[in-house]
Amino acid sequence: MIEIADEQAMRAFGRELVNNWRAGDVVRLIGPLGAGKTTLVRGVLEGLGYDGPVRSPTFNLIQVYATVPPVLHADLYRLKSATGLGLEDFESTHLLLVEWPDRMDDLFPPETAWNIDIEIVEQGRRVTVSPPSRYSP
Ligand code: ADP
Ligand code: MG
Repeated sequence: MIEIADEQAMRAFGRELVNNWRAGDVVRLIGPLGAGKTTLVRGVLEGLGYDGPVRSPTFNLIQVYATVPPVLHADLYRLKSATGLGLEDFESTHLLLVEWPDRMDDLFPPETAWNIDIEIVEQGRRVTVSPPSRYSP
């Protein structure tokens, strides 16, 4: 568990976290609207050397970035289920960063993914990072 004071710190945390991830990793970003999920994605992309705009894919659902590894950023808020979206097609080649991942529980069960829980607290955010179960002894 880590306390994140502001938006700058959330981006810095994203730049750090990405060192642990590679293509094929699925990252579930969990937290209410305004928690900082998209902000964390901005940091992750910065860590991969991307310096263009990162838009919230609330309406287009998926955004792909040609970084190394390539990143797929999805926001499933408006969906009931991610079935049929084709997320699986990106799994072997991309790092998947997904907001509102409960919509894809049947495709990518929580225990197979990195789970990033973001809680809004009075003084910023409280973030808990849980690796996939394959990392546990
Ligand atoms: P989400 O994608 O979870 O809906 P966003 O990243 O789009 O959230 O927005 C988070 C908002 O909260 C931004 O306006 C950001 O500036 C603000 N904010 C305030 N404190 C923090 C913090 N500690 N970490 C991340 N964002 C923060
Ligand atoms: Mg968002």
